[in-house]
Amino acid sequence: MSDNTPEPPKPGSPEEITRKLEDFIKTSLGGQVVFTRLDSQGNRDEPESEATAPEPLTDNSSVFDFRLKPAEIKAYLDRFVIRQDEAKKVLSTAVCDHYNHARMLREMEKNGGKLPEFSKQNVLITGPTGVGKTYLVKHIADLIGVPFVKADATKFSETGYVGGDVDDLVRDLVAKAGGDLQLAEHGIIYLDEVDKLATHGERGGRDVSGRGVQTALLKLMEETEVPLHAPNDIRMQMQMMMDSRRGGRHGKEIINTRNILFIVSGAFSGIEKIIEKRVARSSIGFGAALTEKPTAGTLLRQSRTQDFIDYGFEAEFIGRLPVRVVCDPLKADDLFQIMKNSEGSLIRQFEREFSAYGVRTGFEDDALHAIAARAEEENTGARGLVTAWEQVLRDFKFELPSLGLPELLINAALVNDPAAVLAQCREEAKLFHADVRAGEVQAFADAFKRLHSLDLHFTTDSVRAIIERVEREGSTVEAICARLFKDYPFGLQLVSRNSGTTVFTIERAAVDDADKHLSELVARSYREAHSGGTASA
Ligand code: ADP
Repeated sequence: MSDNTPEPPKPGSPEEITRKLEDFIKTSLGGQVVFTRLDSQGNRDEPESEATAPEPLTDNSSVFDFRLKPAEIKAYLDRFVIRQDEAKKVLSTAVCDHYNHARMLREMEKNGGKLPEFSKQNVLITGPTGVGKTYLVKHIADLIGVPFVKADATKFSETGYVGGDVDDLVRDLVAKAGGDLQLAEHGIIYLDEVDKLATHGERGGRDVSGRGVQTALLKLMEETEVPLHAPNDIRMQMQMMMDSRRGGRHGKEIINTRNILFIVSGAFSGIEKIIEKRVARSSIGFGAALTEKPTAGTLLRQSRTQDFIDYGFEAEFIGRLPVRVVCDPLKADDLFQIMKNSEGSLIRQFEREFSAYGVRTGFEDDALHAIAARAEEENTGARGLVTAWEQVLRDFKFELPSLGLPELLINAALVNDPAAVLAQCREEAKLFHADVRAGEVQAFADAFKRLHSLDLHFTTDSVRAIIERVEREGSTVEAICARLFKDYPFGLQLVSRNSGTTVFTIERAAVDDADKHLSELVARSYREAHSGGTASA
């Protein structure tokens, strides 16, 4: 909590981040969002007026004074996540219910009121890999400013430390919250691959330690107290013992999971068959004949608790996940939209990566369509985009920074034949550099004229000769010209005085042996001056 005279925020401090988030939400959601904050006594200030410059917020005030509406959360998610509208709506609503309840609990506790009944809105998301499940949850956690931990359910075993202890998830939240226990107790734990915890079930799959892990998770999802330090953390245990002997440090050493929101997900491949069977059974007798085969998504949307039990879950476990939602597979057009319109698009990342080497990139729609089609075939959702781009851009990322070209157009031709386009780039780079260097030769001539009032006319062939030298010697046009024509100001003044000419054509021979060329010019000018003729360059 801040005191009454808030100090200016340090860059990157929680206050600064919260303030930025506040500005950001205001800009994107407009005036519907009302921000309130806590004073040092934990009381709410009046909402600030539009005109007031935002002050540093107190730690955690965004979640502890949660006031977002489901539609506002969805609007925020829409900026990053393409499709998955149903999941966005359901998650936004569940998150609002959860954090509104947590806020009310705090208010009740403060006022000594009776705690209302509440059934926790833990969420089960079904859907294939790479379609935005984690992405959704992560952005929700970012928006509301709570710590977020993700793990794969497969890493746990019922014996705890063999694989990993489920309690570690809760302790990880504390680490993510920078040690702030209160904030950690309002975090989000996201567990992927929970389908792998299914045991017996109709699939007749392997019976691993899934049941024990389900039980351990069940406790967390309901309400339990987790010790802040793992029993196998010997160093911490000793530290605590010493502290208590000395009569020091008696801080809170447990984390309550009551307000932690659990979101679990999995592909649940094969569950469609269970649902289909059940649906078929229940439709017998009503004379319903299935004309079209339902899609996996249609079937998943009809899932019941019993289907998950038949799949191999404990009824209690699945019962603690009352909110269920389906994320759909992404089609080529969705993948195109992700690249084109999502704020977190991979394309922005590539643009940044190339621009670090001074290369401006332009991505054409035909390239995005070609990549989207390839990625769809990978069957790994939006992850397929990374793979597809990696194959196409791999050599460009390696070689382009050294070619020194200022821009790269990424179109379907490049996607279809990267090697051919890269070869073209190499040729272009040669011409480009020749062009740049030719400009530098001209710049030398211009400077020479300014300083000495003498015109040097370099022929195309002599410019080429200078560029060849630059490449051969790994030098610059400026350095080579300065060296070759070091004596030209004085020498050409003599010639000019003898002959009256101020324009000198520089041929390749002059570049090959500049001193010899100058001596010949000077000698000829004297000769011709004494014989009454004119010298020509
Ligand atoms: P999963 O569904 O397996 O949890 P993720 O959410 O981790 O998949 O997706 C992997 C990456 O793909 C994300 O970080 C994001 O960049 C991108 N992505 C996946 N789905 C979407 C989507 N619907 N909209 C925008 N980007 C997405």
